[in-house]
Amino acid sequence: MKGAECEFDLLIVGGGLVGASLACALGGCADAPRIGLVEAVPFDASDQPSYDGRASALAWGSRCILDGIGVWPGVEAGGAEPIGAIHVSDRGHFGVTRLSAREAGVPALGYVVRNRTLGNALAQRLQTLPTVEVITPAQPQALAIEDERAVVTLQHAGEARRVSARLLVAADGGRSAVRALAGIEPQSRDYGQSAVIAEVRMARPHRGCAFERFTETGPLALLPLDGRDRCSLVWSARSDEVEGLLALDEADFLARLTRRSGRLLGEALELHGRHAYPLALQLVEQPVGPRLALVGNAAHAVHPVGGQGYNLGLRDAAALAEAVIDGLRAGHDPGAPDLLERYAAGRSADYRRTVRFTDTMVGLFSNNLPPLAALRNAGLFGLDLLPPLKRLLMEHAMGLAGRQTRPARGLPL
Ligand SMILES: Cc1cc2nc3c(=O)[nH]c(=O)nc-3n(C[C@H](O)[C@H](O)[C@H](O)COP(=O)(O)OP(=O)(O)OC[C@H]3O[C@@H](n4cnc5c(N)ncnc54)[C@H](O)[C@@H]3O)c2cc1C
Repeated sequence: MKGAECEFDLLIVGGGLVGASLACALGGCADAPRIGLVEAVPFDASDQPSYDGRASALAWGSRCILDGIGVWPGVEAGGAEPIGAIHVSDRGHFGVTRLSAREAGVPALGYVVRNRTLGNALAQRLQTLPTVEVITPAQPQALAIEDERAVVTLQHAGEARRVSARLLVAADGGRSAVRALAGIEPQSRDYGQSAVIAEVRMARPHRGCAFERFTETGPLALLPLDGRDRCSLVWSARSDEVEGLLALDEADFLARLTRRSGRLLGEALELHGRHAYPLALQLVEQPVGPRLALVGNAAHAVHPVGGQGYNLGLRDAAALAEAVIDGLRAGHDPGAPDLLERYAAGRSADYRRTVRFTDTMVGLFSNNLPPLAALRNAGLFGLDLLPPLKRLLMEHAMGLAGRQTRPARGLPL
């Protein structure tokens, strides 16, 4: 066993998008607690699964949180494309709706940022935080929950190491090892779809507009990236269709994309990278347990339609950081059951709202039965006709629905 046992206030397992954001939020406080951040794959490794070839649509509310926790300047320096408008359409039907930043009264509805850019910005910020110890490459092997602390045995760079903390945070993604070690089983439902992601160059300029097009086999998104014609593609399709999409040669793939996108941005001209992600809804009943909190995909994995997953996880990180720091300042134990229960209760409405939003979009729009298609058209037209409803959808897309934490309101923790 390596060295003596190390004690932290918080041990975060998983340094992906959400775990690293949580460490930045807490580590940046003037009275920051001692934090251990355990990550299996170093931040700069080419196979880092959170900071991979995807790009993420960040809601305006997420930009506020990232700004509040000192990460946004690094993201902006690495490249963040503002989303000025969102165009939602339905293949083969008339309904169309447009949401715009001008209508919402904000500079941008959100931003599209490459996950690698986010990873670099988070890693740079972590380096400036003296109370955060990054432990990588490391993974938990065993977990013991005691009255006062959680004790984790890590496999760290080939050796066993024992660490303990008053609060253990599972931020290790959809196949969370911590969740399994704690005996928590999420509810899970396969969508029967996978998402093919790539970067593409389109014939027409995107002009800062994000396109979400619903097709009978799944939604297709073209998100604006740097340059006038470069887009991030998220093409969700039935799992049996995806194999064929991956096997197509580049020219055939681009031709298929041109057709499936309804030529909204003209012809698809260039393709960079192509990877598929199987899609399932996953949700734990309670994102807390004794001396344990679950955040991000360890607590909930949603369909990528509408780009909600990291945004939701970042709101977990901001809410947990706020609860922990308020508890510590009041002299309380950060792993106390009442603190964790308050955190869980505070998050449940956001979970329900986001799961209902993504699940409904997938169910309603992936179905071509005539009555549903008519409803969809009515729905999309209705949104254009009913400003209050549209405003509600916009608030949701911007991540501003429900209670806002201090970082989300631009206030220090
Ligand atoms: C195709 C696609 C497109 C998406 N687009 C968007 C979007 O536009 N906007 C948006 O908000 N969301 C989007 N999402 C969702 C978003 O990517 C996830 O919600 C987000 O990655 C969750 O972050 P996380 O840190 O919770 O988990 P992960 O990203 O899975 O990170 C988990 C981290 O834990 C580490 N880890 C895993 N196991 C262990 C272990 N045993 N020990 C130590 N470390 C471990 C991993 O190496 C990784 O670094 C998309 C998802 C997909 C699949």
